[in-house]
Amino acid sequence: MFYFLLFTGVGSLIGLRSGKVLAYNTRTKRCATCEAASRNGYPSRKHDCRLNWTGSSKAMEPDVTAELAVYASEHGAPVAVLVGDDDSCTIKKVRESVSHDVIKWSDTVHAKRSFATSLYALQKNHKGSLSGKVINYLLTCFGYALSQNKGNVQGLQKNLRAIVAHAFGKHDNCRMASASWCGFLQDPHTYKHKSLPHGKDLQDEKLQKDLSTLVEIFVKNADKLAPLGSSQANESLNNSVGSKAPKIRHYGASESNDYRVACAVGQKNIGYSYVSEVCYNYREFFFTLIFVRSTMQSGFRFFPGF
Ligand SMILES: [Zn+2]
Ligand SMILES: [Zn+2]
Repeated sequence: MFYFLLFTGVGSLIGLRSGKVLAYNTRTKRCATCEAASRNGYPSRKHDCRLNWTGSSKAMEPDVTAELAVYASEHGAPVAVLVGDDDSCTIKKVRESVSHDVIKWSDTVHAKRSFATSLYALQKNHKGSLSGKVINYLLTCFGYALSQNKGNVQGLQKNLRAIVAHAFGKHDNCRMASASWCGFLQDPHTYKHKSLPHGKDLQDEKLQKDLSTLVEIFVKNADKLAPLGSSQANESLNNSVGSKAPKIRHYGASESNDYRVACAVGQKNIGYSYVSEVCYNYREFFFTLIFVRSTMQSGFRFFPGF
């Protein structure tokens, strides 16, 4: 829900079902006009100043999310469920800012990413036994466990616990989870793992213990994971903002950044037709602009000395 560009941040509230941007706002830490004025010691000229943040960049996300939650409440669409990464500051600030309950769901995109990061971190202690192939296998199982247990907290917990034991050749948890994916339950005599090295069970006991400890963290948070909240829509908006205000061009020190974010939101909500909608709604302004420009251009042509 938050996109961060060096000196600016964009917060967006996107409907879980509609996928549309319900509200958004930006935080801006720099204004080139104000900075130039203070550098040269004169009062800044009248300008469309967007400076609205002096705190740390990290504090932008909780602040803008809480503001959007309050805005949504005031407009008859209170935020009942907030899907995001597991940043406790954001949900804390949102709960403090609104008078109704807000449930927190984990974002599955972030959960998968965090599981992968933890596996690669474990790899350092288990060189040899926790290979890239094993990690890919565990990530695939984790993804299946999530997608096959949507809304089923207990089912997700049992499946997550079964993943590690199954890889180590212990199938009691598979039986408890009634895991249809466990080939051993279907045919114990001929079963071989398809995606583990040489089709064999994993052996390292210490690795099993570490993996079980890791999976247990997700088991404990199964109630937040099972609804399968996803921030994919926010990610696609962030990509769009990134393409309109690329990091290599610094638009964050002027009003240009806000216009670019607004274009990305328009594109997300109504598609590319946002351009013609803007042109139509501001047609008088555009016609005046075109008229003034063409008059000036023809003036220059007739009176080159100007
Ligand atoms: Zn300014
Ligand atoms: Zn099994």
